[in-house]
Amino acid sequence: MADGVAGNEGWSKLGAEPGLCGRCRHAKVNETRKGTAYLRCTRAAWDERLPRYPRLPVRECVGFEPG
Ligand code: SF4
Repeated sequence: MADGVAGNEGWSKLGAEPGLCGRCRHAKVNETRKGTAYLRCTRAAWDERLPRYPRLPVRECVGFEPG
């Protein structure tokens, strides 16, 4: 069973615990061709308080929304 983020293998390749981002509907993981992965905050596209590529683990976030 996936951990709530179904169909996204990249999560296991992040190299760091995502913290809050791991449970947030705005988080998206992209894999590079080298097989590493990075987490992008999609909310950052319109919410200027947030970094596009948050430093993990994220422990507190004003934009966090479970999902
Ligand atoms: S809104 Fe915050 S918790 Fe959610 S993905 Fe962006 S940085 Fe992570």
